[in-house]
Amino acid sequence: MKFIPEKRPIQGETIASLTAALAESGHPAFRARQIYEWLYKKRVRSWDEMTNLSRALRTWLDETYDLHPTQPILNKTSGDVTDKILLSLRDGSLIETVIIRAPQSGVGRDQSRKTICVSTQVGCAYGCKFCASGLAGWKRDLSAGEIVDQLLEVCAREDSRTDRADPSLASFDNIVVMGMGEPLANYDNLLQALTIANDPLGLGFGARRITVSTSGLVPQILRLAEEPMGFRLALSLHGATNEVREQIMPINRRYPLEELIPAVRTFSRHHGRMLTLEFILIEEVNDTLDQAERLAAIARDLHAHVNLIPYNTVEGLDWRRPSLRRQDRFLEILKSGSVSATIRREKGHDIDAACGQLRLKVEKDGVPTPAEAKKT
Ligand code: SAH
Ligand code: SF4
Repeated sequence: MKFIPEKRPIQGETIASLTAALAESGHPAFRARQIYEWLYKKRVRSWDEMTNLSRALRTWLDETYDLHPTQPILNKTSGDVTDKILLSLRDGSLIETVIIRAPQSGVGRDQSRKTICVSTQVGCAYGCKFCASGLAGWKRDLSAGEIVDQLLEVCAREDSRTDRADPSLASFDNIVVMGMGEPLANYDNLLQALTIANDPLGLGFGARRITVSTSGLVPQILRLAEEPMGFRLALSLHGATNEVREQIMPINRRYPLEELIPAVRTFSRHHGRMLTLEFILIEEVNDTLDQAERLAAIARDLHAHVNLIPYNTVEGLDWRRPSLRRQDRFLEILKSGSVSATIRREKGHDIDAACGQLRLKVEKDGVPTPAEAKKT
């Protein structure tokens, strides 16, 4: 299903496409930079605040573009580490954007690393067996503007706490494209959105601080390897043999490890970047000694960092998170095999931070009242 909104989001325009659209309607090219400045530097939330534009141009903008393609309907905070924003789109679909604050060991909270996690689709077609986003299937791709606007929603939240003197995204260390959906299945819109996020006239966020996470779409990984912008890549591996991976990730039948591993190797060679392998630990599925040893061999071969993620319970799914002892043992095997590895513990577990979980709950139970939202 393709959703065609009445007006397209202005946030989906690159500076080049905006300039072309203006020219086509008889407006001067230099207006594009002014509009970008209002959107991404001053971050105003209405056309009327764009005071150096003529009234006629503001009217044209209003008639042509949607300024608010995403609207926050719920904010959830988990302790001091995770904020989750539930956003409603023009067709009523719900998506999630997450802010993760990971304290750095030995430093105060103010110096913690801040990461924004964005969604790229409503639902997901890939049906991984542990994932809430895949449970209800794929509904539609997000437009480039809906992806960029998630970043602007985060900016708006940060701006409301500060005096706006600085570009608020500058306080973030990373953007990870690891929310709902498979980003590489929405390739063109993703690339357009990241071009705008990266553009110094736009959000000015360096490509090296943007990580795209994929379940392993081989042709698109090879395509991304050819892009001039050097994004980082995270591969959701979750199984170190075809046998185990296939059980939990149907995509492995289409692109098995013997095709996937060479593709990510090509990617890291092209960009000279360290790859991350994501590995969700699920009890008695992929947390065995054999899997740890095979994972270590893959990571060494790819010079990749391994990020272990203890499985987050998803309502309606039977998998279990391994005990801390089993998690530690798995990590130890990687480390003793000279692999750089970390374990991501508990971040946002209490606010359903694994991708798609909050949306799933709200679609099932309805939007909680503010009092309920505080309690849950
Ligand atoms: N589709 C892409 C990006 C979004 S899903 C991909 O698969 O890489 C990305 C991440 O969501 C997974 O790598 C994992 O980190 C997280 N995730 C999904 N379900 C989870 C669960 N039940 N427990 C913990 N993490 C989960
Ligand atoms: Fe889709 Fe990623 Fe979830 Fe798999 S893990 S169902 S690819 S969002």
